[in-house]
Amino acid sequence: MRSSKRLERIPPYLFAQLERKIAEKKAQGIDVISLGIGDPDTPTPPLVVEALRAAAGDPGTHRYPANRGRPEFREAVAAFYARRFGVSLDPATEIMPGLGAKETIFNLNLAFLDPGDAALAADPGYPVYTGGPLLVGADPVLMPLVPERGFVPDLGAIAAADLERARLIYLNYPNNPTGAIVPDGFFEEVVEFARSNDVLVVHDASYTETTFDGYVAPSFLATPGAKEVGIEVFSLSKGYNMTGWRTAAIVGNAEAVEHYWRLKTNIDSGMFDAVQLAAVAALSTEGDAAAREMSGIYQRRRDLVVGALREIGVDVEPPKGTIYVWAPVPEGHTSESYCEMVLEESAVVVSPGGAYGPNGEGFFRISLTIDDARLTEAVERLRSSLGG
Ligand SMILES: *Cc1c(COP(=O)(O)O)cnc(C)c1O
Repeated sequence: MRSSKRLERIPPYLFAQLERKIAEKKAQGIDVISLGIGDPDTPTPPLVVEALRAAAGDPGTHRYPANRGRPEFREAVAAFYARRFGVSLDPATEIMPGLGAKETIFNLNLAFLDPGDAALAADPGYPVYTGGPLLVGADPVLMPLVPERGFVPDLGAIAAADLERARLIYLNYPNNPTGAIVPDGFFEEVVEFARSNDVLVVHDASYTETTFDGYVAPSFLATPGAKEVGIEVFSLSKGYNMTGWRTAAIVGNAEAVEHYWRLKTNIDSGMFDAVQLAAVAALSTEGDAAAREMSGIYQRRRDLVVGALREIGVDVEPPKGTIYVWAPVPEGHTSESYCEMVLEESAVVVSPGGAYGPNGEGFFRISLTIDDARLTEAVERLRSSLGG
């Protein structure tokens, strides 16, 4: 059966070869430890689960939700943004729920891109920044993220023809997959760039609450002028262990939020009211404490992984945020050949950087979302099979 031309534009799945090898190992009864996918392993904070339990018992939450979101949800997001980022948002016009950052980002392509338009997307980057534009008949234009520039794009290097077509720019700090944080002055540069080129900035704030060593990540919207040119997608998935809950908020430019709302009323019927009320609990000050506690756990795991990698000769910088360690593959390897060798020698799965874009080639990514005992075991295996 033929799929749509639109769907055919999506490139082939890059993990295919690696996944076949993992399946083979498992079939042989080998205990494979996966440090591949980033999906928090610890439970959602009890205060969030309890809030859902109570809200789900109230028949008032059982009917169709409004796409706009409950007032309590929008007010909680506004209070959180004020307290956490010093950003003031109007709950009536500048905030809406999204069913996860993934859904929200994909739908922004539908709301803002026509065939022939382009979206500027970080390379390496979260796959929806490139797959989304392709699915709506537009084109992603890759912006290389390289270590020499601290993994921020060189906005001055974007070709004039691409700038002409660009309607959206996707940014994400703290960054997946590189673990980079935003350098001072970059968001200011982005506001200027967006103004002069008339592009809408979409900042993916999936990791602002997952930071280490005392680093506090800013919101893009705290930059002067940001609200005139941009929106932020704030996800509760990673920071609050809520990947399964599909909970995010789109905040910022009121016109952009209005377009998103109009699109959404044609696509789905919003977020379950009880989940919105659970998100209110997560965004409370008690929720802040839960997110800090998680960051402490990841920081400890990060140190474990960085220490082991250094011992086996991998030169790696400890990231200040996210749930990943991004490291260069040793001389003589491609991303894929290194990941295959690690699997072969240690039965540990790490992700090949090339899967996140051409500039991810030469790197691999380790996810920290596995319990301490298994992570320690994985690190021991890397040490003993690859050390020296
Ligand atoms: C995990 C991740 C997402 C997806 O978040 P959801 O809210 O669970 O959809 C989006 N962007 C980045 C950069 C991510 O790493």
